[in-house]
Formats: sequence, C-alpha cells, structure tokens
Amino acid sequence: QRSSPAQAEFYQAAEEVLECLRPLFERYPHYHDHCIIERIVEPERQVFFRVCWTDDNGRVHVNKGYRIQFNSALGPYKGGLRFHPSVTAGTIKFLGFEQIFKNALTGLSIGGGKGGADFDPKGKSDSEIMRFCQAFMTELHRHIGPTCDVPAGDIGVGGREIGYLFGQYKRLSGRYEGVLTGKGLNWGGSLGRKEATGYGAVYFAQNMLADRGETLEGKTCLVSGAGNVAIYTIEKLYALGALPITCSDSRGTLHDPAGIDLALLKELKEVRRGSLEEYVNQRPDARYISVRDYPQDGHAVWRIKADAAFPSATQNELTEADAEVLLAQGVRCISEGANMPSTTAAVDLFLEAKIAYGPGKAANAGGVATSQLEMAQNSSMEQWPLEKVDAKLQQIMANIYHQCATTAEEFNDPGNLVLGANIAGFRKVADAMIDQGVM
Ligand code: NDP
Repeated sequence: QRSSPAQAEFYQAAEEVLECLRPLFERYPHYHDHCIIERIVEPERQVFFRVCWTDDNGRVHVNKGYRIQFNSALGPYKGGLRFHPSVTAGTIKFLGFEQIFKNALTGLSIGGGKGGADFDPKGKSDSEIMRFCQAFMTELHRHIGPTCDVPAGDIGVGGREIGYLFGQYKRLSGRYEGVLTGKGLNWGGSLGRKEATGYGAVYFAQNMLADRGETLEGKTCLVSGAGNVAIYTIEKLYALGALPITCSDSRGTLHDPAGIDLALLKELKEVRRGSLEEYVNQRPDARYISVRDYPQDGHAVWRIKADAAFPSATQNELTEADAEVLLAQGVRCISEGANMPSTTAAVDLFLEAKIAYGPGKAANAGGVATSQLEMAQNSSMEQWPLEKVDAKLQQIMANIYHQCATTAEEFNDPGNLVLGANIAGFRKVADAMIDQGVM
C-alpha cells in the first residue's frame, strides 16, 4: 500500500519485484503461508542520525545520516553509502531493498543494506570531506562490523571517503578489520574492486549478446554518468572493441563521435574533480550539451543514435520518451550500471521490444560481488592477483546472467531478465528466511 509520497522510489522498486513474483506464488503458494512478502518489504532495522561537522571557516553544519539493515537472511548486511544532497530515507530504502535481491543473485553470503547522507561533497575541501566522514562514522561505527554490516561506496563515496571512514572506525573501535570495502590497495583493498561494477555491467552485456549470437565488437555505445561506474564501463568497452561515444554528469552530457578520450576523462573526474565542460577545450570535435538544453521529457544522452546503452549515473535517468527514441534509433542492448536508472514505463518498452535488457540488480552486481571477494581476502589476510579477481568477476556475471535467463524460461517468459532476476533473487532469500524461522 502506497502511504507516503516520500517513499515513491521504494514503492517503484517494490512494485516491480512484487509484480514479477506472481507466477512464482501461483506455482508455489507456500510462500504465502510464511508471510514472506510482508516480512521482506519491512527492513530489519533502520538507523537515522544527526551528522554535525565544521567547515573550513569554522561554521557548523548539520546533515542527516542513514543506515538501513534490510535483510540478513543470506549473510551480513552489505551495501554502499551514498553522499548526495538528494538523499532521503526513501532513497536509502529503495536502494537497500534492491540490494537484497542483487546480493542474492551473486550467490555469495551477503545480506542487503544501504546507507548515506544528504551531504553534498561538491566544492568541499579535502579537510571538510574528512571531517564530515569522521562525524558520520562517529555514529555509524556502533552499528557495523565485519560479520554484521559491511558498507562500501556509492555516489559521492569513493576511495578518498572510504579512507577517512575507515580511519575513524579504527580510531573509535581500536580494531583493524574488514569493516568497509573499496579500501586502498595498500591497506586491505582488493585489486579490481574499483573497476568491478563497470566491468561487470559490460560482462553482463557480453553474456546477453552472446546468447543472441552477437558481440560488443564494433558497437557504438552510450554511457551516462562520469563517475566510478561510467569510467570503468568505458574502459572495458574499449577493451572489447566497442566505441563508447558519450558520458554525462549532473551538469551536462558529452558527445565525442570519435570515442570518449578515457585518459582525459579520468584526469577531469578522478584527479581534478571538475566539470565535463572542460573536456571540449582539448577535444574540439566533441560536443557538450548543458542540462539547460536537454529535452523536457528526458536526457540528452539517450537521444544519440547507438547500438547499446549503459545507464551509469542515477535512478530514473532514462524516461519513457528516452526509451522510445533509443528503440526508434535501433538500440539492441541495455545493461544498467546504475540502480533503477530506467523508469517503469521505459522498462516496459524495452521488454516489449524484446531487446537484450539487463536490469541494474543483475547487471551491476559485479561491484558488490567483488566487495565480498575483498571481505574474503581480508578474513584470510591475503591479497589475490588481479587476474584471479577478474576471472571470478567474469564467472559471477556469467552465472548471474544464466540464473536470470533460465529462471525466465522456467516461468514461461524467455528473455525477460527482469522477471528472471526478481524471481531468482527472491527465491534464495525467501527459502533462507523460511529455514531460519519467523523473526
Ligand atoms: P559516482 O559518484 O562515482 O558517479 C556518479 C555519476 O553520476 C557522476 O558523474 C554524477 O555527476 C552523476 N550523477 C549523480 N547523480 C546525478 C543526478 N541526479 N543527475 C545527473 N547525474 C548524476 O557514483 P558511482 O559511479 O559509484 O554510481 C553510479 C550509479 O551506479 C549509482 O546508481 C550507484 O548506486 C550505482 N552503483 C554503484 C556501484 C559502485 O560500486 N560504485 C555498485 C552498484 C551500483 P556529478 O559528478 O556531476 O554529480
């Protein structure tokens, strides 16, 4: 029942899952008897807290912090932290809910959680970021631990923020342990974690296309976003012979028909933390489209003709009108690096068109899967070579694809990976919840 407009994104995510579960419940009514639906949509625990920090001029600021521990049937809560001014309790709830099924699909022992704050890292100095992270962890440290809840990064939380958060956890707890993932390579991080979500989304696309007798080679690709997921999606697309021609940030979209200059993009975003607008100074043949010039009903990046698309920025960034244009211009494959980037109406159009469509909870699961590999390395005090991590990632993405595809077939809707992902993920969690009794 929709009772709060503030939870619109959560209702959107929950409705999609519940709609897909109809055929499962018709065939296996015992799930009803255990009240699994009523239990799974209710988080086990939510923590809301005040985060007070001081800027470089001595002014005190107050932000809202969140951690949702949604479901621990399969393992310790696992999911990222998002620092962005748009974050609300509803955002964290939708992300935490999606995380339950995504983590189940990886086949690894991880439950679902998520967290964050309505803090805007843009324009803040390193010292301000550090003080904010320390203030955030001052409360969060009470609720997390390596066998209980292991946060990671998400929008606005990358290697720098994980470092400050980890330092504060260690100071408060007196323990050096794998309580966060996405750590630096010289202090407990895993090779390949930074790249994993983007690479994983591309591996997922590769799997979808292979089943249709196609490859990514020579395909023109649209990528949105210009952060962690987008950059490593672009990197892997080049490695597989595809041509990524776009990226975007919250201020605009970049279209470089010759292919995005990856080194320049990394310099702009990973080193200088600047705007994409600066890119055209060095690549005059590229075009920058400001958000002011976006179509009213969508996003400029999806109006460019291409064979494949990799939404990698944020939720609901691809509208019904965007989907209509993408399909009319011949897109054949969509693999979602971001969480719930396509609106419900856009997803319906992709499914109707029967193109290769990989929903975020399946296609972007490579990030959390590699986080779990980081936890495994931490607990055995080892560091695995990149080749080992990447081989595992490729295997995990292939397994996720095959689970989604075979489950869709089992329920008489071949090719519908939304249905396949939701049923396959739900079934694992629900069976574990039944085994563990009512709680
Ligand atoms: P980053 O913060 O590294 O990058 C996010 C990118 O998206 C930035 O370019 C940002 O632009 C843009 N963006 C963010 N919010 C908006 C908005 N409201 N409108 C337009 N552009 C926006 O985050 P990630 O790359 O880590 O995350 C991207 C997506 O991938 C998210 O949906 C996240 O939940 C999902 N994801 C990430 C995983 C990971 O391992 N990092 C794992 C699984 C999913 P700007 O810099 O201008 O704000």
